[in-house]
Amino acid sequence: MDMPSPDQTVLAKKAHIVARLRAVLPLDAVIEDEIETRAYECDALTAYRCPPLAAVLPSSTAEVAAVLKICHEENVPVVPRGAGTSLAGGALPTADSVILGVARMNDVLETDYENRLVRVQTGRTNLSVSGAVEENDFFYAPDPSSQLACAIAGNIAMNSGGAHCLKYGVTTNNLLGVTMVMMDGEIVEIGGGHLDAGGLDLLGVICGSEGQLGVVTEATLRILRKPEGARPVLIGFDDNQVAGTCVSDIIKAGILPVAIEFMDRPCIRATEAFAGAGYPDCEALLIIEVEGSEQEIEVQLDRIVAIARRHNPVEIRESGSAEESAKIWLGRKSAFGAMGQINDYMCLDGTIPVSQLPYVLRRISEMSKEYGLDVGNVFHAGDGNMHPLILFDANKPGDLELCEDFGADILRLCVEVGGCLTGEHGVGIEKRDLMLDQYAPEDLEIQMAVKDVFDPKWLLNPAKVFPLAASHARRSVSH
Ligand SMILES: Cc1cc2nc3c(=O)[nH]c(=O)nc-3n(C[C@H](O)[C@H](O)[C@H](O)COP(=O)(O)OP(=O)(O)OC[C@H]3O[C@@H](n4cnc5c(N)ncnc54)[C@H](O)[C@@H]3O)c2cc1C
Repeated sequence: MDMPSPDQTVLAKKAHIVARLRAVLPLDAVIEDEIETRAYECDALTAYRCPPLAAVLPSSTAEVAAVLKICHEENVPVVPRGAGTSLAGGALPTADSVILGVARMNDVLETDYENRLVRVQTGRTNLSVSGAVEENDFFYAPDPSSQLACAIAGNIAMNSGGAHCLKYGVTTNNLLGVTMVMMDGEIVEIGGGHLDAGGLDLLGVICGSEGQLGVVTEATLRILRKPEGARPVLIGFDDNQVAGTCVSDIIKAGILPVAIEFMDRPCIRATEAFAGAGYPDCEALLIIEVEGSEQEIEVQLDRIVAIARRHNPVEIRESGSAEESAKIWLGRKSAFGAMGQINDYMCLDGTIPVSQLPYVLRRISEMSKEYGLDVGNVFHAGDGNMHPLILFDANKPGDLELCEDFGADILRLCVEVGGCLTGEHGVGIEKRDLMLDQYAPEDLEIQMAVKDVFDPKWLLNPAKVFPLAASHARRSVSH
């Protein structure tokens, strides 16, 4: 009798898994066709692609539990997916994995204005959480630029931030509880409608765990009353580092704007061509927003403008109306898309102490010359969360690799000055091997021991977060 070829064995295994998944999910919730699974072959880090074995789109926590139980029994890796906007390759499949997408799970389950919380299924998009409570003058604070598309699931997994997180904190500061399905199918509740819980802070461990510990299906989120008013001011400078010094002076003065955003000339130019936000033509631009009553706004803006004037700005423009404010923010929120129209780019994400901004901006500009690759900077300057966009040509052999080396050097620089490898985009595949630049091997060992507890077989979101060799070693020991 002929032995089956390796291809036949893989196909037979796939057919077996798909048949088991079909037995617990509706017909249209299991995608196995080679063409259709391509929709899940990458996230927003599009340089890396790999179609999964299959994709499933459950509609309830119970369906998620059924899928995970099967995959656990069959030793099939699972990659949780929200909207696939990760810039770190966090939702990138492996060829032997099942993508578990929560996009169909997008209901609002409860709104409780008295206790300022909303409970949602995690496939709901970030912006539509605010949309669900805005008629009662509430909003959900974390606001990634991708908020129209990205899901609460991914926000929790990446501990996402956004322009307004300087004042309100990132996802972890606005998350009260989750329903999570463990890899073996057990459903657990962590946290709830209260501020804190006794015992270890497991919610803190889950938030930012990048799909390594479980699949989060429901979330209880803090909602806030909308401020009485808010107003941005645009401040232009003819020097990047001077703009950076202005940011650290504002923070040093104890002023807490709701947002301080930074854009340099390449980003300003691209954004103007794309969105026509009316930005001045200068080397660096700060968008600083304050909020409160009219009087509070005036007082804060006066102090900010006084500090800015000490740094010889080329332009100071306060918004005079809701339309002007919207236009100012439209430019900033379009910046990534605008840069993407003119070039391939790699978007980095690292955090530094705000006081190091001028030095780090200078070093990035020097490194840009050394590597021969241009860089645009657009980032959340108030909390030191840098996003250098390295421009490269994906069709030019060797350019991507050069870009990756340059990116790694920038992230090492962030660590060197006392910052860290990520700000809000997570580690994913992008920075997994740089983790040893941030952590000693013993520290990483402790982090991996936490995963051992939640996912002893190392089936959840494989080959992410931890250095690849360490992940592989752990997985092979556990099987
Ligand atoms: C143009 C653009 C602008 C962006 N701006 C910002 C920004 O300002 N701030 C910011 O923080 N990020 C930003 N991002 C990055 C991205 O949008 C965030 O990381 C976002 O939180 C990802 O959400 P998602 O639903 O798309 O997750 P995915 O990309 O689908 O997944 C991200 C990670 O979450 C895990 N995951 C997904 N669902 C679950 C689940 N149910 N349970 C457990 N783990 C899960 C995945 O396995 C993966 O590791 C931007 C991206 C783009 C493309």
